[in-house]
Amino acid sequence: MQLILMGLPGAGKGTQAEKINEKFNIPHISTGDMFRLAIKEGTELGKKAKMYLDEGALVPDEVTNGIVEDRLSKEDCKDGFLLDGFPRTIPQAKTLQKITTKLNQNLDYVIHVEVPEEKLLERLTGRRVCPTCGTTYHVVYNPPKEEGICDKDGSTLIQRDDDTVETVQKRLAVNIEQTKPLLDFYEEQGILVTVNGDQAIDKVFEEIQTKINK
Ligand code: ADP
Ligand code: AMP
Ligand code: ZN
Repeated sequence: MQLILMGLPGAGKGTQAEKINEKFNIPHISTGDMFRLAIKEGTELGKKAKMYLDEGALVPDEVTNGIVEDRLSKEDCKDGFLLDGFPRTIPQAKTLQKITTKLNQNLDYVIHVEVPEEKLLERLTGRRVCPTCGTTYHVVYNPPKEEGICDKDGSTLIQRDDDTVETVQKRLAVNIEQTKPLLDFYEEQGILVTVNGDQAIDKVFEEIQTKINK
């Protein structure tokens, strides 16, 4: 199964991706995670991407497209993948079409997780992540059992550098502008499904499963 998770920053893509990955066992490919790892490791890619992430801007398409093509060409994506945070622009979506055609793959669904814009600032500023296993929490909506500690491995949770009020506002503005044409693009292809992301995490997951099982 080849899936894309779309939605504004904070809509719950990463949260739902963890669940989809557990249930369907397809690799979760998050371009944001790939950039953060590269920055942490100080690689060439990390050096190219850092300035954009710090500013809440999009990394240029030629950089982003390249890492996605490399990743989707790997053996573990042969029977399916779950893209999270890519594509974010029409040129990226067109490149993805070329990549999947070349790899003899077909996109099954583009899942749009829809959440009212005014809820996203609170979601993002309250987000906490585990630096060890990547699990995502929220201080109010999805808290760990013990404050500040990952349930799975006991690591101290951290806040992403770009989850500050100022950077969140920039990220939202950039992404709001890019999203509509992308939704239209996939709607025209008949593979867009929209789920209500403004309900409990498990309910969102139920709705996703119902809609992709049809
Ligand atoms: P994205 O990957 O789309 O940026 P995340 O999955 O990281 O979003 O979710 C953003 C924040 O909102 C996290 O703190 C997460 O725990 C929280 N969250 C995710 N889904 C929901 C939901 N359905 N209701 C309330 N909070 C949620
Ligand atoms: P995310 O983890 O999806 O919130 O992404 C974090 C940051 O990574 C974004 O603010 C961008 O700087 C960068 N990024 C992630 N995915 C893309 C993409 N598809 N195109 C361009 N930049 C991206
Ligand atoms: Zn953890």
